Amino acid sequence: MDTNKTWNSHSGPLLDSINGFDVIVCQTCGFTHVIPVPSPEDLERIYRDEYYSKHKPSYIADIQEDLDWWNLVYQERYELLEGHLTPGRRRILDVGCGPGYFLLHGKQRGWLGLGLEPSAEAAAHAQSLELDVVQGSLSPNTVHRLGSFDVVHMSEVLELVPDPAASLRLVRSLLDPGGLLCLVVGNNYSPFQSALRPACGFPPWWVQPPVHINYFNFETAERLIVSCGYEILYIEANFPIELFLLMGDNYLCNPTLGRQCHQKRVRLEKNLLAAGMGGLKRQLYQALARCGIGRQALIVAKRTPV
Ligand SMILES: [Zn+2]
Repeated sequence: MDTNKTWNSHSGPLLDSINGFDVIVCQTCGFTHVIPVPSPEDLERIYRDEYYSKHKPSYIADIQEDLDWWNLVYQERYELLEGHLTPGRRRILDVGCGPGYFLLHGKQRGWLGLGLEPSAEAAAHAQSLELDVVQGSLSPNTVHRLGSFDVVHMSEVLELVPDPAASLRLVRSLLDPGGLLCLVVGNNYSPFQSALRPACGFPPWWVQPPVHINYFNFETAERLIVSCGYEILYIEANFPIELFLLMGDNYLCNPTLGRQCHQKRVRLEKNLLAAGMGGLKRQLYQALARCGIGRQALIVAKRTPV
């Protein structure tokens, strides 16, 4: 990291250069992101028209195939949120709700949900499940129409927005006092990913501009959340799928092998839950988070008083 890059007010050491974008450890923002940052107009077009068809063509079908496992994941997540709220507080906004299955699970356990989803295809899918979903992105123009909530859920969204701090502050304005932010964000430039570069000659496959703009880890995500007016309540990792790469199963250009590796992870988690060891699984994933390891971070934070 001997080269410094600057773009507008964003500046920091250069990590990688891919597809005409530079990845910098931005000293201004306090986390890693690409420069130049794509324009909001370009991003809106990508997410409205082509994200699911071009960048995630099998995403909805894969969720449907694994829906029994996803419902176990969602059950744990709702139980975690319910543990931090009084029983009457069950209003949730899912920003980037995708095809809607997280909201659907909540609806079935008594939550009152609203989805916000930029992709026309995914929003239509969620609406076909009889969920209340608005097609659009989180912006100062849309938030005033949404109402207020006890929880705002954002899964795989913060990586994709041009100004994560602005998004987290907007979310905060939607939360009632004591309301919760539930964030799932990719853990990138992680120790396992980094190990694969010198040990196996892998490229930084997780860097995918312009779709993927921001690259967080547990520490930078936590710091950003706190700086935007939240108190951290809970952090855990999910399964470090890169373990398979380190063990020699190179699924990067082999979607069939990728599904097989994913199914092994699914079996591990289902078997632990079937054995009544969900608590042990959570302890394991909390410990992984402390080591900086895991494909994604799950962070629950409470809106602090003004
Ligand atoms: Zn920056």
